[in-house]
Amino acid sequence: MSEFDLIERYFRKSIPRDDVIVGNGDDCAVTSVPAGHQLTVSVDTLVEGVHFLPEVDPFSLGYKALAVSLSDLASMASVPRWATLALTIPEPDDAWLSAFSDGFHSLAEQFNVALVGGDTTRGPLSITVQLMGTVLDGKAVTRGGAQLGDDIYVTGQLGDAAIGLKCAQGEYMSEPHLDHHCRMRLERPEPRISSGVGLGPFVSAMVDCSDGFAADLGHILSSSGCGAVVKRRSLPISEAGRQFVENSGDWAPIVSGGDDYELIFTASPDSRTMISAIAEATGCSITWVGTVTSHDQLVMLGDDDLPLENPGSGYTHF
Ligand code: ADP
Ligand code: MG
Repeated sequence: MSEFDLIERYFRKSIPRDDVIVGNGDDCAVTSVPAGHQLTVSVDTLVEGVHFLPEVDPFSLGYKALAVSLSDLASMASVPRWATLALTIPEPDDAWLSAFSDGFHSLAEQFNVALVGGDTTRGPLSITVQLMGTVLDGKAVTRGGAQLGDDIYVTGQLGDAAIGLKCAQGEYMSEPHLDHHCRMRLERPEPRISSGVGLGPFVSAMVDCSDGFAADLGHILSSSGCGAVVKRRSLPISEAGRQFVENSGDWAPIVSGGDDYELIFTASPDSRTMISAIAEATGCSITWVGTVTSHDQLVMLGDDDLPLENPGSGYTHF
């Protein structure tokens, strides 16, 4: 299979979009940004052994490669539109490429994202997805807008992905359906686009939770120049998370586990009614977890309501 056959077979297809003027197959893609909108751009690389286990199934990998970028756009309240895919593979393996591209295209279809181009090279397995979207002029939500007295919220549940990783690595086992739930949360995170886009007008700062709750909330706090008080037991956890904490006494996956791809955001208490309406409308839960304070650090209160010494740092590559 030549490079061009491979591209033709697996990556030429895309959902049609009116705003794609020149799609996949030329030297550049040409797209049109509607008047009154701004372009949002995010890029993420997944490397074997760093971001995923060598034995992960290729469908999940294709899915997750796009999901992580969708999560970035969600956190800026941006609607996704176009993606490019740079793929480095050791061998052109048909079964692998077919499953990988099915995973990618399934999520692209679900979120109406056109695959407008990419690059294909031989080498150690590495996947880079660039995702582009739009927001109304000036309406992107950054990490920098949290205000003293704002509420702090989290979508969905924290910690399942980190528990799923422990299951995958044979370090933890509970009931099969709970382990499966956690593996799915690790391998097929659900991008919170409708939550993020719906919340946009009502929040002061937002980030997606990819490196762990404490670390990612920390990004909001440092960008906004403020602190926070969070009660650890108010963090939203699933039945699997509850059992994990009960069995091990270890909160690390909840507080500092990576790969959740939930949204962490701050909002004025005036937005409370709107925020519960958005949770209702999207079917994705939103949980109040704390308050923005003026001292510039994260204080996490343990079960006895006393501050924990080390609220948990997130994953860093270096
Ligand atoms: P060029 O040599 O101009 O960079 P390529 O030969 O790399 O073009 O790619 C040919 C066409 O196929 C381009 O339109 C490119 O965007 C697209 N393409 C290449 N690899 C991928 C991929 N993995 N996914 C999607 N489109 C791809
Ligand atoms: Mg090229």
